Amino acid sequence: MNISPLCPVCNAAPETIIHAVKDCLKAQFFWNSFSPPCSAASFFGTQLMVWLRINCKLMRQCDVYELDWAIIFPIAVWVLWLNKNSIVFGKSSTPKDLKAETLAKAAEMAYLGIAEKHRKSKIRI
Ligand SMILES: [Zn+2]
Repeated sequence: MNISPLCPVCNAAPETIIHAVKDCLKAQFFWNSFSPPCSAASFFGTQLMVWLRINCKLMRQCDVYELDWAIIFPIAVWVLWLNKNSIVFGKSSTPKDLKAETLAKAAEMAYLGIAEKHRKSKIRI
């Protein structure tokens, strides 16, 4: 089988996990559109596991979206990963608005979390 070792999104660098979700130029453009609540140097300059751990715990609310970064970030990683897979498997027909998709899913998760807390508090009463 002839499989390219290059990133299917940019075709400019080897396909690795960290390239797909952080270092790809298109991923960087995507992340910059959110203005992550830390410096660009620390956001783009860390290794994969440290980067995932720090951002998944960062409970700083984004002023624009009224959602915690710890909710937006993991969903954004997942959306990037699914987008890459849809390109690999030829399911990507039209360019998607990945940011809008991320924010919609993050809002849904935040709502479900709030609804769950509300349900638990009702049970205790
Ligand atoms: Zn790439």
